[in-house]
Amino acid sequence: MSDARLDWEAACSAVDRARSILIVTHISPDGDAIGSLLGLTLALRERGKQVTPAVDGGVPEHLRFLPGADAVQPKVSQSRWDVMIALDASDEARIGDVGAVGLAQASLVINLDHHPTNTLFGAVHLVDPQAAAAAEIVYAWLERLDWAIPQTVATALLTGLVTDTIGFRTSNVTPRTLAVAQRLMEAGAPLHELMVRTLVSKPYSAIELWKHALATVQFSDGVISGVVSQEALKQAGLKDATDGGLVGLLSSVAEACMAAVFKELADGRVEVSLRCKPGFDVSQLALELGGGGHAQAAGATIDGPLADAQARVIPRLIAHLNGRCQHVRTVGE
Ligand code: 5GP
Ligand code: MN
Repeated sequence: MSDARLDWEAACSAVDRARSILIVTHISPDGDAIGSLLGLTLALRERGKQVTPAVDGGVPEHLRFLPGADAVQPKVSQSRWDVMIALDASDEARIGDVGAVGLAQASLVINLDHHPTNTLFGAVHLVDPQAAAAAEIVYAWLERLDWAIPQTVATALLTGLVTDTIGFRTSNVTPRTLAVAQRLMEAGAPLHELMVRTLVSKPYSAIELWKHALATVQFSDGVISGVVSQEALKQAGLKDATDGGLVGLLSSVAEACMAAVFKELADGRVEVSLRCKPGFDVSQLALELGGGGHAQAAGATIDGPLADAQARVIPRLIAHLNGRCQHVRTVGE
């Protein structure tokens, strides 16, 4: 889908009427998932709502500095909620176990997201593929509700904007994205600190991981790719599968039009991260692989082993480029 589907009135009246609200986001949550979750949770609590924020496994370590992170539940028990709000999740499988409980136990589901691959699950939709981050839609919702934005809410939402746009550098940043960022800064969100904490600062273990992963890098026909094996994670002293930002490094290579990182999970499956330059689109391939995402950044979890996963995906990326990686675009083209 490329058109927005925005049921503002239904969404505003649903939260107005609701007393108990479950808020969930996507599994393996990133800064937009957690920023949106915390921002909306804190805003609804200010209005006296009973809110349960939850995501499988809880808030990742590197985002626990955010206000309200301690309140996020890694699991939920069976309960009833008037409303469940799913944030930044393109399909029902992405909201994990806590989302499955909510789908069964909430009277109404609101689906707030900015992925063009959104399946439009749920009854009420705030789905806008033009938004640079889910946090941008959360902000628009609070604006419509005419609710004041305290500093804590602003900080959480600006984290979503900063992380999903990699510091306002992605091609989906619009004047509106910058206007929202400006208002969040005016409400007290510390832009510089959020940039440093979420985009610049890395644990030393990421560098150890890169030492192994960079030795696996291949580059041909415009596609650059690398592998993060369980062995490399172990040697870097990391428990959870992460690429330590490797896909960002690979996609910064000037001669490459597409980048892929293959991360081996503990169960042998492989998480594929895909990136491409404007003018290309990796979201359809991700969807065909059983995942989803945006035109320029998408992903999927597929069967291993690693070598088979590479052999299945890389030729398809090269076929998609079809020799078009030579073309140098002029500014604004
Ligand atoms: P990343 O490569 O940073 O993990 O993800 C990039 C984008 O692809 C994000 O927008 C993320 O939501 C989406 N994505 C990554 N993995 C999956 C997946 O397994 N399923 C779906 N539906 N989307 C994914
Ligand atoms: Mn997002």
